[in-house]
Amino acid sequence: MTSANGNDMNKDILLGVMGDPIAQSKSPLMHGAALKALGIPGAYVPLHIAPDQLSQALSAIRTLGFRGVNVTIPHKVAVMEYLDKLDESAVAVGAVNTIVNDNGILTGFNTDGIGYVRSLKAEAAPDLSGARILVIGAGGAARGIVTALLQENPSAVLIANRTADKAKELAEACRGKEKASGIGMNEIGEHIGGMDIVINTTSVGMYPHIDETPIDPGLLPAGIIVSDLIYNPLRTRLLSESLKRGCRIHGGLGMFVYQGAYALEYWTGRTAPVDIMRQTILDCLGGSAE
Ligand code: NAP
Repeated sequence: MTSANGNDMNKDILLGVMGDPIAQSKSPLMHGAALKALGIPGAYVPLHIAPDQLSQALSAIRTLGFRGVNVTIPHKVAVMEYLDKLDESAVAVGAVNTIVNDNGILTGFNTDGIGYVRSLKAEAAPDLSGARILVIGAGGAARGIVTALLQENPSAVLIANRTADKAKELAEACRGKEKASGIGMNEIGEHIGGMDIVINTTSVGMYPHIDETPIDPGLLPAGIIVSDLIYNPLRTRLLSESLKRGCRIHGGLGMFVYQGAYALEYWTGRTAPVDIMRQTILDCLGGSAE
């Protein structure tokens, strides 16, 4: 039997995630559970690939007949030059986190930003149109998120970063840049009062540095939504402090689940079992759904 894209569906499906390091990745666990739940025979494996092995690794994906891979730090940008095609999502963000192999033709996608926005809308803010949004951080994750947020017709997206120039460059590089602007972290106090949603995209507060916060929580106005991309811990100190100040909170687990769900749907053509994927990670991190 062959699928619509010409791949042989009788063979076990081979999937994986390329990164350096990779042992900490929860993607093999999550996708393994998803494949099992869907009754699809195959495997999703961690692939430890150093930067100087990237070209060979991409050739191996073709040779070994992998249906696809996720790509994580530090390869999301570098991998682009080895692909045959780039989806619009990858071009807009300038990075790839998902590769689909159609009989040797490798296409790069980016599901990080759309995964985040799907999670934010499902779990905290169903309608982002007209929203004033502060994005803290201007790294790889922020790129995808700002791009996806701008497609939701917000009234403004303000990017604040420790290195102010990177925030300004990101705002300038975006489609819909008339709604985006960049500032330094030291200017947040002047702007945060007018925000509806604050999103932390920096790594500050991630395990093991769980006592750190990217901004002074005392700056957060009551009633706004505070979102953090970090999912380890499930509730960062920023989110705990936000809750104490009367804010609504949104953690990073949903983004992780939905970016993986989109990838799985591209590879298999099946609807991803998102509840099972989420519960698998919750069980692993010892948390509960909020
Ligand atoms: P990245 O490209 O390395 O960017 C890191 C960002 O954090 C930069 O803006 C950097 O500012 C800032 N930063 C780092 N240390 C800082 C500090 N001590 N003080 C202030 N700012 C600091 O990383 P990334 O790929 O964007 O990932 C960022 C976070 O998102 C990580 O915690 C990652 O786990 C999380 N993430 C979550 C998901 C998910 O599925 N939930 C997906 C992707 C990423 P400078 O530019 O000034 O260095």
